[in-house]
Amino acid sequence: MVVGEFTQDTDLLVIGGGPGGHSAAFRAAKLGIQTTIVESRGPLGGVCLHCGCIPSKTLLSIAELIAAAEHGKEFGVSFGKPKIELDGVRGWKNGVVDKLAKGLDSVAKKLGIERVKGLARFEDNKHVAITGGDVPRIKFKRAIVATGSKPIVLKGIQIDSPRVWDSTSALTVEEVPKRLLVVGGGYIGLELGAVYATLGSEVTVVEMLDSLLPGCDADLVKPLAKRMEKLLHEICLKTRVVKMKDTGKTVEVDFEGESQPKEKQFDRVLVAVGRTPNTDGLGLERTGVKVERGFIQVDAQFRTADPKIFAIGDVIGNPMLAHKAIHEGHVCAEAIAGRNVLFDRRTIPAVVFTDPEIAWCGLTEAEAKSKGIKHEVRKMQWVASGRAVSIGRTDGLTKILFDPDSQRVLGVGITGAHAGEMIAEGALAIEMGAVATDLAETIHPHPTLSETVYEVAESMRH
Ligand code: FAD
Ligand code: NAD
Repeated sequence: MVVGEFTQDTDLLVIGGGPGGHSAAFRAAKLGIQTTIVESRGPLGGVCLHCGCIPSKTLLSIAELIAAAEHGKEFGVSFGKPKIELDGVRGWKNGVVDKLAKGLDSVAKKLGIERVKGLARFEDNKHVAITGGDVPRIKFKRAIVATGSKPIVLKGIQIDSPRVWDSTSALTVEEVPKRLLVVGGGYIGLELGAVYATLGSEVTVVEMLDSLLPGCDADLVKPLAKRMEKLLHEICLKTRVVKMKDTGKTVEVDFEGESQPKEKQFDRVLVAVGRTPNTDGLGLERTGVKVERGFIQVDAQFRTADPKIFAIGDVIGNPMLAHKAIHEGHVCAEAIAGRNVLFDRRTIPAVVFTDPEIAWCGLTEAEAKSKGIKHEVRKMQWVASGRAVSIGRTDGLTKILFDPDSQRVLGVGITGAHAGEMIAEGALAIEMGAVATDLAETIHPHPTLSETVYEVAESMRH
């Protein structure tokens, strides 16, 4: 057989092996659908595993360890200055990624999923051409597009220089630059800014809007902003980069806005101003799929305008989060298997893994005010939590938005140590339509930070 003429057949083709793609493929295979995944990078896991959630959280856990050792002084325990060996840091991070990638591969194998390496491009709504692998062409009955997203570049400003990083280059941790400029005070800017600051960089963050994490309630951001002000060299709000120039030794940066950073010369610049869907070059124009502002348009079963093609994950829109992609993958696979399902989740929780962490779900206070939604806010500062006092982390806040008439939980926001581990209770409350009494009558173990959720709910009882 001539390899170039070989066309492989599959019932379900999943394009992209990230959290969305592999979750859909695993669920489809379990439901008895013959499934193939094509993934351009080879191993499964997508951005999340290879250059997103997992490596960034692994590095943040190292930063947390360093911060905890420093914090020990307050408890009468000193460890001395940490000695950071970058080879060891990289080795640990890469080891975590490899272990999880092997795990995904073995699940795929067990489920009998065909894995194909290469970049897929639609020829029509029945075939894709594959480049960069051994299988040149695949014929499919149904396809799921789960091609994810990539970093946005600052058009007309960003320069092609090894001194200018995106999140993927920052996560390689090749070096710890002396002066690092982070453009964007969102998820990535704050998480990776904190990692580099803890490893020893002098970090300046510039954010064009008037607060860090602009989508999040100001009172939840406040404890983080306070800690970041100590950890970082400088935070400049309402400030943008207007010019970058590689001088051969540094990047010289010009700014515009309310506050001008003290520095103009940086050893490295990390641009973290959001992500954009991977739909260019996919050949979608040869199918019936509709795309708006780069995002594939889908219905509540993730069906595109082309009846044979579905789409999930970052490529269909915000929020661009791994757990959203995973749940969409499951619903999509079940819909393809003919089950009567819809994606109608009431909330998608969000966690920023900084120190302190910020986590929220459901309605935010800012959203409630701007949309005129009736709500009652109850809060508890962590200074009154026995657990927070005993671990020396009173810099936290738990707040819940209730419907004033029914006392139903509308939104939950938590800032503080381990907030990310606590938010699932809020998501469950919203998903189940819980009222204040449900939370207040659930016995929360003592002494834990989760008691703050109980205390806030209890304050609603008359
Ligand atoms: P992706 O994970 O982007 O996977 C898409 C895959 O498709 C890629 O592997 C790509 O190689 C492949 N592909 C693309 N085009 C083609 C093609 N034509 N042919 C074949 N293969 C193709 N989310 C969280 O929930 N929690 C976090 O803590 C978190 N941290 C993050 C940290 C960073 C630094 C970044 C960048 C992102 C983070 N995210 C986090 C977001 C999360 O990574 C994404 O929301 C998630 O990966 C989206 O999953 P996906 O399956 O839609 O796409
Ligand atoms: P982001 O949208 O979270 O933040 C980008 C920030 O950059 C915003 O605050 C925006 O106002 C600012 N900005 C935009 N243009 C600017 C400019 N020209 N100058 C200065 N500031 C500018 O985007 P991100 O941090 O790049 O992360 C991308 C996405 O990846 C996130 O939205 C999230 O969906 C996902 N992510 C999630 C996690 C997590 O779940 N913990 C972690 C990292 C990334």
